[in-house]
Amino acid sequence: MKIYIVDIETSPNLAYVWGLWKQNVLPNQMVTPSVIMSYAAKRLGYKKTYYRDNRGGMKRMLKGIWKILDDADIVVGHNSDKFDIKLINAAFARHGMKPPSPYLQIDTLKEAKKKFRFARNSLAHIAEDLGVRKKSKHAKFPGMTLWLECLMGNEGAWEEMKQYNIEDVLVTEEVYLVLRPWMSNHPNVADADGTVACPKCGSHNIEYRGYYTSRAGITYRRFRCKDCGGWGRVAMTDKETLKRLGRNV
Ligand SMILES: [Zn+2]
Repeated sequence: MKIYIVDIETSPNLAYVWGLWKQNVLPNQMVTPSVIMSYAAKRLGYKKTYYRDNRGGMKRMLKGIWKILDDADIVVGHNSDKFDIKLINAAFARHGMKPPSPYLQIDTLKEAKKKFRFARNSLAHIAEDLGVRKKSKHAKFPGMTLWLECLMGNEGAWEEMKQYNIEDVLVTEEVYLVLRPWMSNHPNVADADGTVACPKCGSHNIEYRGYYTSRAGITYRRFRCKDCGGWGRVAMTDKETLKRLGRNV
């Protein structure tokens, strides 16, 4: 299973506004709508990072993202279900591109909300709370200056954007790895080769711990992954179930 962590950076909308407080911006006040400025990605467990920005052309950048999504079996991102993937899809469609091959999505924001109650659910806050890799602050171009300077073609700002975008992917990867054993509907990544392996990380380093009987009455042996800490189960045959119950077979 090829798992990619993906993150995009977008430009702010540019519009004419009458004031600074609680503005309702009508479509004819819009000058330039938000676009994807860059993307960064990385395959889980691999060192290489991918990055491209739109300075070489929007289509060229989109082709880069498309190739990654097309290669992926699973795409991981923070708020990627509602934000990144939908913006990417819209950009693909706008540029006459066809969908990449289907992939599953894991949104660390959704998972964080489902199973935990963090004080705040931003990537930066969750990463800090969990004590994983710290999300970098763009130091040279703080706050929105980074985006504005990029839009004005500042080479140094683009360099910082690159670092920032890649850093977000690395932080997302680490947050994902902490949340993964807790996810209850994580796609099964174990090889379908007949062996018993962890459904979350594919490891064979497991220990059996107890049993589980489903509402449908099927009994499973439960196991815990000694690598990622996730739980899995394997259905018992009728013979195994009867043996466990002490019946003669
Ligand atoms: Zn595991």
